[in-house]
Amino acid sequence: MATMEKLKAGAVKLGLELNPEQLEQFDIYYQELLDWNKRINLTAITDYEDVQIKHFLDSLTVTLVWRQSITNTDFRLIDVGTGAGIPGIPLKIAFPDIKLVLLEATAKKATFLHHIDHKLGLDNVEILVGRAEDVAHLSQYRERFDLVLSRAVAPLPTLVELALPFCNIGGSFIAQKKGAIDLEIMRANKAIGLLGGNLREVKRVDLTEFTDERRLVIIDKISPTSLQYPRRSGMPSKRPL
Ligand code: SAH
Repeated sequence: MATMEKLKAGAVKLGLELNPEQLEQFDIYYQELLDWNKRINLTAITDYEDVQIKHFLDSLTVTLVWRQSITNTDFRLIDVGTGAGIPGIPLKIAFPDIKLVLLEATAKKATFLHHIDHKLGLDNVEILVGRAEDVAHLSQYRERFDLVLSRAVAPLPTLVELALPFCNIGGSFIAQKKGAIDLEIMRANKAIGLLGGNLREVKRVDLTEFTDERRLVIIDKISPTSLQYPRRSGMPSKRPL
């Protein structure tokens, strides 16, 4: 089977032409993911085609919303709770010019991130080990990003408190969500307002590659986040706003 064929075909539907070097990078990423997964729990999805669709292509679907600006060389993106690098690393491979910060609470996973960053020869990738609750209070990261992404980290009311403080005014936060989310969004309304956000759109991802319902929840940052947020570690999930 040709290298990353499913991913390549899926990306075309998003209007993205991945070149052979990029497909090779995705292939290396896949091999390393599988290898390290024997020692560290990085992913439950391991099949070659499944990883191409459910991890890699899924990461690239945020380009349905963000396109023009992502190709800008000063574009700053943070992936909160990146785990093995999803969605940050696939986006970095597809858009090498972005400045990417990968934030992950687990040190072991961050070791993998350093390894893959080096192996793929990426530049302008910063790997931070820490919790969003703490890192979002550091001035060099607070309200410094054009785009904040987070996949499979927490329910929306919690996620908004972890993510929106990183977003600059005029920037956006996109949460990648699966399945029924109407109730989750209703419950997040208060938090979105408190954190300085404004719900712009809930966009369905309409690719036949995905059999489950996938949506992008797009929240614009319209006013500064009060310094009391995020609250101390654990609170955003224990007592959602
Ligand atoms: N985004 C990846 C990983 C999802 S698993 C993917 O979609 O595959 C959720 C990850 O978020 C875990 O690796 C966990 O360690 C991290 N995480 C959870 N809460 C966090 C927090 N408050 N700050 C930073 N990372 C967090």
